[in-house]
Amino acid sequence: MVVFKIVISEVKAELIEFPLKNKIGSMPKFKVTATILRIKNNEGIEGVSASHFPNADEALVAFFKRWKKLLLKRDPFEIEAITADFNNYTQRILIGIPQAVSLVNCALWDLVGKIVNKPVCKLLGLFQKKVKTYASMPYWMKPEETIKMSNSAKDRGFDAIKVRLGESLQKDHAVLKILRDTFPSPNDLEIMADVNSGYPYQKTLKLARLATEFELEWLEEPLFSDDISGLARLRSSVDVPIAGGENNYGLFEFKNLLDHGCYDVVQPDATRSGGISMVKQIGTLAEAHGVRCIPHVFGTGLIQAANLQVIACLPNCQYFEYGYYPKFILLMKDEIPVRDGYVDIPMNPGLGLELDETEVAKFRK
Ligand SMILES: [Mg+2]
Repeated sequence: MVVFKIVISEVKAELIEFPLKNKIGSMPKFKVTATILRIKNNEGIEGVSASHFPNADEALVAFFKRWKKLLLKRDPFEIEAITADFNNYTQRILIGIPQAVSLVNCALWDLVGKIVNKPVCKLLGLFQKKVKTYASMPYWMKPEETIKMSNSAKDRGFDAIKVRLGESLQKDHAVLKILRDTFPSPNDLEIMADVNSGYPYQKTLKLARLATEFELEWLEEPLFSDDISGLARLRSSVDVPIAGGENNYGLFEFKNLLDHGCYDVVQPDATRSGGISMVKQIGTLAEAHGVRCIPHVFGTGLIQAANLQVIACLPNCQYFEYGYYPKFILLMKDEIPVRDGYVDIPMNPGLGLELDETEVAKFRK
């Protein structure tokens, strides 16, 4: 009897560039870009994943050109072994691009799901089939614009929004005040606020104190992602829940953050923090610390898809972050519908959502 062996036969990374720039918090102004990774097996089934604007997309494409040999001829079901190899070549021993690890892990999960014809969440262990969502505003807004966008989000079915703070304390206060004056309680509108590490300690402490009266769901990235003592001190000094983690990577960084009591909510991202497998582990670690794990999600639809699959398996995740930006950035055939404040977890094989290749071709560099 001839046994057909499934192996990885093709690996390709490509650079996507959108005609957009953005700047929020401590970030420099950056071009909106993405890297798409495609891993194909010898049956012609393709797993895909995408990164979140790493500011190094060209380097990431070059990295995969050089290190695709770590994938070729391997059994795609060896997800953990292959992910560990990439981790060694990027983070643990040689310094490379950690986002490569996340891309490999997510694309392998997509591939394996498609091979066995199941969504990834059913392979990992399903906890929830739908999750509350919030409209994540991508840029700083004037107070009046915040109301306009909140009403627009409510019309689309959202019951929660996230605003960007960190331009000035006066403006932060004006934004939160007009929102709570218009929507008096979290039952009318849940509000999250993101500082994107835009302030030094004393200023962010003032913000956290003035934010208390507005009943925020959380205050996000009040300080830099590696300021462990600052974050721990801040969290123990204020009542508003503190969130963060989108710029942290791997199990040990999150263990350190959790051990030091930095956060009420950790926000790893399947496409940045080490992959779907890693976010599942971080979620469990957070649960043991009594902390919520609500992944960061921003960028193309493949980033939404990878995170939704793991969100479906996290008992301590109550929200999906839905970037409130133009549909063309998603690059997908369909947008995820929002109904009564919730989204359904996509249940198609793999990551559950399909790339629109015509859209990809428009923005391929
Ligand atoms: Mg954020």
